[in-house]
Amino acid sequence: MGAHRFPSLEQVYDEIERLVEEHGQVARVECLGLSDEGREVRAVHVTDPGAGDDDKQVAMIVCGRHGSELGTRVVGTAALGWLVSDEAAPTRQRQHVIVVPVANPDGCAAEAFGAPPWHLSATERRTLGRVAGELRPDAILDVHSFGAEDADLLAVVTGNNTEEAEDRFIYGTVAARLVETAGGAGYPFVVHTEKRNEGYNNFIAGLCYDQFHSLSLGMEANHHVLTPEGAAAAGLAVVRALLAEGDRRAPWEACTGYPTGLLRGDFFTSIRPAGPHAAARRRSRATVWRDRRFFHLGRRQAPSPNVVRTTVHYSGDPQDAAAHAFTLCCRVRGSSRPARVELNGQRIDADIHRDVCSTYVSAAVQPTGPQTYELVVTS
Ligand SMILES: [Zn+2]
Repeated sequence: MGAHRFPSLEQVYDEIERLVEEHGQVARVECLGLSDEGREVRAVHVTDPGAGDDDKQVAMIVCGRHGSELGTRVVGTAALGWLVSDEAAPTRQRQHVIVVPVANPDGCAAEAFGAPPWHLSATERRTLGRVAGELRPDAILDVHSFGAEDADLLAVVTGNNTEEAEDRFIYGTVAARLVETAGGAGYPFVVHTEKRNEGYNNFIAGLCYDQFHSLSLGMEANHHVLTPEGAAAAGLAVVRALLAEGDRRAPWEACTGYPTGLLRGDFFTSIRPAGPHAAARRRSRATVWRDRRFFHLGRRQAPSPNVVRTTVHYSGDPQDAAAHAFTLCCRVRGSSRPARVELNGQRIDADIHRDVCSTYVSAAVQPTGPQTYELVVTS
């Protein structure tokens, strides 16, 4: 294949065993299942067990779905090497990170692509799909690697998601930061925005977007022009930049974490998950996102310059409504606390968060059946 010697499957697995043995207090290996040829598909979980799981973000880094993409073989171990370091201690406190260093061990052993071109393989569904279903990651990065046919390119891929709500803006913003950080580390990435099935098959990222509204990105390292050390450093730069997104608060989000909470609407009026902590909001996010057809935002109105009126019609059945607790969020100008907030004519004590120029006013709503909700914010 390429001019450089990338590690074998055995070498990758030896390296993760060494890392986990040395850092057993923060890292553990899970066998997600066996490949068609009986090889283990391993995942490494890294987190600080002393920090509460309910408050953590969950991120998944999946490498090596394509066995011929040698550059992926060094990204998982590089990510793990950083994740167990002292520098990553704050990230371990805030996040539970799952790294799959070689998702396709049969392909890796054969040095062959070894995967269907248009969908996840049965092994991927059984291993990656299962763990994603259990953990509902807040963010997922599907790591691939370019070879000679793609010259010296390096790419962050925003494909395999949609343009609902503000996701186009959010993906563009996050991808730009990943590219900028990787550039600072000396690696020139571009952003590829291909739509579903138009050249990229980041299918595990697509599954997580579809099912959980995860922040779902792909990456292409390069094993043609980069040495294993170079591919590891380039990949790690992008991984670290993505993990940093989970350690910060996006201006429009109420809490620190990956910017996945805007499910319907836009930055001015939106439907968001409900719940007192990250784990509850993660469950709520997956449910409201799956059933987003039940949430219809009305036209925003400003009956006077200091009053904003927003509505949402919920159309779910009473038996579905219990699982559809949601947050109706209205952004208004300025940073002062609104004089009055009303939900369906009742004065409420709304939750407030701010960005540099505006205030986000959030009302918790528990629907019981089809109903229209009206939020009126008076500044
Ligand atoms: Zn690939």
